[in-house]
Amino acid sequence: MKVLVPVKRVVDFNVKVRVRPDGSGVDTANVKMSMNPFDEIAVEEAVRLKEKAIVTEIIAVSCGITACQETLRTALAMGADRAILVESTVELQPLAVAKLLKAIVDKEAPQLVILGKQAIDDDANQVGQMLAALLGWPQATFASKIDITEEGGQKRATVKREIDGGLETLAMNLPAIITTDLRLNEPRYATLPNIMKAKKKVLDIIKPDALGVDVTPRLATLKVVEPPRRKGGGKVADAKELVAKLRNEAKVI
Ligand code: AMP
Repeated sequence: MKVLVPVKRVVDFNVKVRVRPDGSGVDTANVKMSMNPFDEIAVEEAVRLKEKAIVTEIIAVSCGITACQETLRTALAMGADRAILVESTVELQPLAVAKLLKAIVDKEAPQLVILGKQAIDDDANQVGQMLAALLGWPQATFASKIDITEEGGQKRATVKREIDGGLETLAMNLPAIITTDLRLNEPRYATLPNIMKAKKKVLDIIKPDALGVDVTPRLATLKVVEPPRRKGGGKVADAKELVAKLRNEAKVI
């Protein structure tokens, strides 16, 4: 079966993000960009399913500017078979991405789409859920373990999710949507030979118009501000002084 893995190019998680002086957003000029960490986990999971011979083809897809090709090449070096870039210079909001992915699903007919649970730039946590709704497919979000089985020709996914106070196990028939949580797996590093091989793999480029999707943004960002600076702490001489400060200054006891 085919698996589709959407991967987003985001500011690398090690970079301390800076807000643009005019408050219009985050400064991405000359900043290291990488694959969204939850999407690396999604690619890894797809590759492991292929290694278990459950999956036959992994298609990585990214929506965004030309530079997203680098992110797709990383996915190819990790083990994806081919890639699709839906190229657009428009700021793509979650609903637009979900509609683009739906169009790709209609074209490619995968049995499973594995996405990250959220992109670490906007922390939206929306695309997987919106895609499931648009397709009318079942979804299991925040997966920490995935098992795929088959009975009488029907494939099923059993997904464990970490929830408050325990583990929840869901079962659903494929085709389905799964989004990954941090503990699902530890993604592999792409080796040099695989990076070289990835350069020769197929990477198709499509425009949103060709998919019949209107990607016009619907949300306007009014302002982005840095979090308030934390004030430095102070030292107290003993417990008595601490209690006095908590009572008289912080007024919390
Ligand atoms: P979000 O809902 O924006 O937090 O993103 C959730 C997941 O949707 C990400 O982890 C990706 O798997 C996928 N996704 C979001 N934006 C894009 C994009 N521009 N291109 C490809 N996949 C995306």
